[in-house]
Amino acid sequence: MVINALYQLHMLRRNQWLPLYELKQIQFKKLKALISHAYKNVVYYHKLFNSVNIKPDDIKTPGDIKKIPVTTKSTFKSQPLHEVIARNVDIKKCVRRRTSGSTGVPLYIYHTWQNKVFQTLMNLRILLDNGVRYGDKIAHITDTRHNWSQEYWFQRLGIFRKYFIYAADTAEKQLKVLKDIKPDVIYGYSSSTKLLAEEIKKRGRREINPRFIFCNAELLEPGERELINLAFGVELIDVYGAVEVADIAWECPAHEGYHLNIDNLVIEFLKDGKDVLPGKEGIIVCTNLHSYAMPFIRYELGDIGIPSEKMCSCGRGLPLMDLIRGRADDFIIMPDGKSVSPLVFIIPSIPGIGQYRIIQNRIDNLLVQIVPNRDFSENTTTALKEHIKRVTEEISGKNTINIGVVKVDDIPRDSSSSKLRRVISEIKSI
Ligand SMILES: [Zn+2]
Repeated sequence: MVINALYQLHMLRRNQWLPLYELKQIQFKKLKALISHAYKNVVYYHKLFNSVNIKPDDIKTPGDIKKIPVTTKSTFKSQPLHEVIARNVDIKKCVRRRTSGSTGVPLYIYHTWQNKVFQTLMNLRILLDNGVRYGDKIAHITDTRHNWSQEYWFQRLGIFRKYFIYAADTAEKQLKVLKDIKPDVIYGYSSSTKLLAEEIKKRGRREINPRFIFCNAELLEPGERELINLAFGVELIDVYGAVEVADIAWECPAHEGYHLNIDNLVIEFLKDGKDVLPGKEGIIVCTNLHSYAMPFIRYELGDIGIPSEKMCSCGRGLPLMDLIRGRADDFIIMPDGKSVSPLVFIIPSIPGIGQYRIIQNRIDNLLVQIVPNRDFSENTTTALKEHIKRVTEEISGKNTINIGVVKVDDIPRDSSSSKLRRVISEIKSI
């Protein structure tokens, strides 16, 4: 098993340098195998294929994937468990993880051990290719209540030693633990890493000196990257992933975009069911090519990405995606029915705002909670209202939304995921 894992890691690290057409061949071979498996062993997909009258043999070219209907998160969640689990897989031998449930009830995901190991290897590729060394200590700032934290044998031998830090703890507490650990690598939610960066900035001294900062799970807002880079004195590396499909895309040391893991996933960017052109925004739809216990085929994640035609100067064959929008945040539904990306509403640096959260509690009302900092004045509220008014006018041609601002002491994290959600819409559709 160990030799097999090392071989797989070697192949994964080799794969990324292959030309794009060879990567696509690997991807299509895996796709065909997964589709045959899902049709044969998973009730949900068997019914789904039958509903559009296709059989696995009808998937003859990569483009034929479009014949399979997209499955949304809510459709997937509403299926009975036994209909989305492969009947030839023993669920008791699977690894169970849960999604954050940021849009409601969490979903439990089952991975076979082989898939779990493969996902770990995919993540190791990101670490190693960015310069992390086998002996480095890694501090994970995450939701320790739900994260799978069992040690691998190699971690007990001092290879990639992992330490878990609870994301909902205060920055002071996290910093205290980090000072004891002295990590070489910090891997965490961007909101937590930002709070740590602010704490370091406030103290005026660094006290910890990680060589690498990896951020995942949440959207990086404008200015946050610079703040984190400056506070830690290193350039942060962003990783985009989802529990259902593992790491989707990541930055290499060249920082020219996010490399798409197309040797593990089929990643589509769709608008109205069709592929968007390079440079245009599309909803991200993923097929996890190694998900044999609970297959995810054309699964809509709800995040927004921009596919790129440009190849990275690093020379990797893995294609690039330009930007990620969405993640834990909701879309705002405008009174005219338009669904607007949360990034559009993100508040630029207005003096006086420490943290904030936008809540759409009615179709025509946004409530902005702010934690004021020492620069807060009446001008803060005016500037904030003007910003949101300008945004809504740009979207709808006129301002059709009321804006309320309240000062709060704290913005609590999402109770089920510990993520910090900045944009919440209680309006799901009209
Ligand atoms: Zn690159």
